[in-house]
Amino acid sequence: MNLVLLGPPGSGKGTQAKRVAQRRDLQHLATGDMLRAAIESGSALGRSVRAIMDSGALVPDDTIIALIRGWIRRRASGSGFILDGFPRTVAQAQALDHLLTETGAELDVVIELEVDETALIDRLSGRFSCANCGASYHQRTHQPQVEGVCDICGSNDLVCRPDDRPEAVRTRLEVYRRQTAPLLPYYGTRHILQKVNGMAGIDAVTSQIETILNAVMPLPG
Ligand code: AMP
Repeated sequence: MNLVLLGPPGSGKGTQAKRVAQRRDLQHLATGDMLRAAIESGSALGRSVRAIMDSGALVPDDTIIALIRGWIRRRASGSGFILDGFPRTVAQAQALDHLLTETGAELDVVIELEVDETALIDRLSGRFSCANCGASYHQRTHQPQVEGVCDICGSNDLVCRPDDRPEAVRTRLEVYRRQTAPLLPYYGTRHILQKVNGMAGIDAVTSQIETILNAVMPLPG
């Protein structure tokens, strides 16, 4: 099964994609994570995208499509995937269609996480994570048990993403409205778009997603 998770920044795509990937044994591709890893490694790609990402704008389509092209071509055939953070523009969605056709695959379902904007600002503004293992926290709703120490791996390297600063958050939401929201009619007219209420709790959102996926492809047993 091949799926795309769509939704504005802070809608929970990363959290839900990890859960679904694990449960259904899908390959998880998060373009934001790939780009952050490139920055961390100091590669030419990382150096070219750092300032753009920090500002909350989108990395150019050509750069991101080249990254995805390599990934789609390399991935083991037969196993499904979940895309998180890609596509983010109609040009990217068209490129994805071409790549999938070329590799004999197709998208089974696109799931949109619907969340209202005030909640998004609140979620993003308090967000921080463990630089070592990636566990996520929130200043108001999910502090680690011991202040400054990751519950999962014990690291004290807890960091706030530069693009979670209020100014960058505003840019990211505007970019979503202008450049990514047109994907909703793009997939809607193909009848593969399904919506879930992203305002519900994390487990409730996962079960809404599972209900949709079970209708497309039930899990054995
Ligand atoms: P994310 O972790 O998905 O919120 O992505 C963080 C940032 O990475 C975005 O604000 C963009 O600057 C960049 N980025 C991630 N995915 C894409 C994409 N598909 N197209 C363009 N830029 C992207």
